[in-house]
Amino acid sequence: MNRLLRRSGPALQRLCGRHYSAPAAAAIPTPSAQPEVHFNKLFINNEWQDAASGRTFPTINPSTGEVICQVAEADQADVNRAVKAARDAFRFGSPWRRMDASHRGLLLNKLANAIESNAAYLAELETLDNGKPYAISYSVDLPNVVKCLRYYAGWADKWEGKTIPIDGDFFCYTRHEPVGVCGQIIPWNFPLLMQAWKLGPALATGNTVVMKVAEQTPLTALFVANLIKEVGFPEGVVNILPGLGPSAGAAISRHMDVDKVAFTGSTEVGHLIQQASGSSNLKRVTLELGGKSPNIVMADADMAYAVEQSHFALFFNQGQCCCAGSRTYVQADIYDEFVERSAARAKRRVVGDPFDLRTEQGPQVDQEQFNKILGYISTGKKEGARLMCGGGVAADRGYFIQPTVFGDVQDNMTIAREEIFGPVMQILKFKTVEEVIERANDSQYGLAAAVFTKDLDKAHYVSNGLRAGTVWINCYDVFGAQAPFGGYKASGNGRELGEYGLEGYTEVKTVTIKVPQKNS
Ligand code: ADP
Repeated sequence: MNRLLRRSGPALQRLCGRHYSAPAAAAIPTPSAQPEVHFNKLFINNEWQDAASGRTFPTINPSTGEVICQVAEADQADVNRAVKAARDAFRFGSPWRRMDASHRGLLLNKLANAIESNAAYLAELETLDNGKPYAISYSVDLPNVVKCLRYYAGWADKWEGKTIPIDGDFFCYTRHEPVGVCGQIIPWNFPLLMQAWKLGPALATGNTVVMKVAEQTPLTALFVANLIKEVGFPEGVVNILPGLGPSAGAAISRHMDVDKVAFTGSTEVGHLIQQASGSSNLKRVTLELGGKSPNIVMADADMAYAVEQSHFALFFNQGQCCCAGSRTYVQADIYDEFVERSAARAKRRVVGDPFDLRTEQGPQVDQEQFNKILGYISTGKKEGARLMCGGGVAADRGYFIQPTVFGDVQDNMTIAREEIFGPVMQILKFKTVEEVIERANDSQYGLAAAVFTKDLDKAHYVSNGLRAGTVWINCYDVFGAQAPFGGYKASGNGRELGEYGLEGYTEVKTVTIKVPQKNS
């Protein structure tokens, strides 16, 4: 029988918030809920290695709470080995340093092609390890991984320096050189996509990499490691270590021979990474951290569309997005109707087996997140927010939580200030545009924001007033490899994606040459 199950365009678009690059009538292969795990060791110098300590840790299926397999657990000694491999690969005159920039681009394109050829399997593994619906893994995460790598493949031989007209008899130019050995520490919410966001610009610009993947979701990154070797990246250029944050992650961030750390994760750990740089070798640090992003709905917005988009803004990926629209500000005239309709939409959200293609919401990633979210729900109730729907556990095993909507949320409530990272929506009321700009900015974070209105003048005015790295107008979570992403304030430092994303992986060298004025 044909393994392809056709989903209609609109159904898929509903799952993907209409904005991801889902094909009009996508063909999604029927997934296997038990994909085989091929790789569970450390990837150092293009070889599979056990941890020096011999230790392993279990990776858990969040749909059941059961162990999928044991994975090698890197610590300081393994980080040292990986950094040495990356340093050797970065040696002046090494195959990687001598490789034509266009060839680096070719390797990135080959990697993108290899991932595309294994998309169905990788999507299965991602869903098994992370819990996100397979329909999303396959039709959102995987295509965006491939696009990101192809985008940066194109940059490899186009990231040009300048010639500079300095005073005197000199020729002055800049070279864009790689920073060196880059530590990359990634989270569990988009394991493959975060890996691509990090590898693309680092490799396009000629760096070498020691990547620590999240302990909750190590499996897909390890499969990609094997593809990295297969497509021909030289030894030591990419090293991938599963391991825990306080041991392997901290060892990278304080390592004296790591030139840069790129981190995506919590603001709390972002502080530690920056401190480790300050107390070690002042390695460059780029951070993509937490958020509490305001999503502002004006009274003149298209109600049905704004309700659906605001639902997507919060609930997409089980609410586990750093840029989730987690403070929904709704103008007073439409507030009550908006809250009712948002609760009705959340009640219709399909929660369950992530391998079922109808599922919109799978389990949270682990027991810790599950407990934390339930704690926030209970705090929301205690602090007087109005629970409109949900509020509890959604299944008798695994980490499933009911889609939850709170109305009558006030700015000073814990659920309006802290990042919940779960399927819990906060709806707040505002009256005027000036008021909502001020309240939206009253946060330690500044990652993203959105405005829904039919009045584009108003939209631009509000957008200019918002202190956030990304503002979406009449849409949410629209990402492209071409467009930069990153935070103001405690949401981070530096930008990922787009041409700006290359800057964090580049040292600028100024070369000045004396030019004799006459032929001697
Ligand atoms: P979350 O709370 O969402 O899991 P974290 O910031 O804890 O987010 O995790 C993001 C990544 O940072 C993971 O790969 C994790 O292992 C790593 N990490 C956690 N603690 C540290 C640390 N002290 N130093 C370096 N990396 C860490």
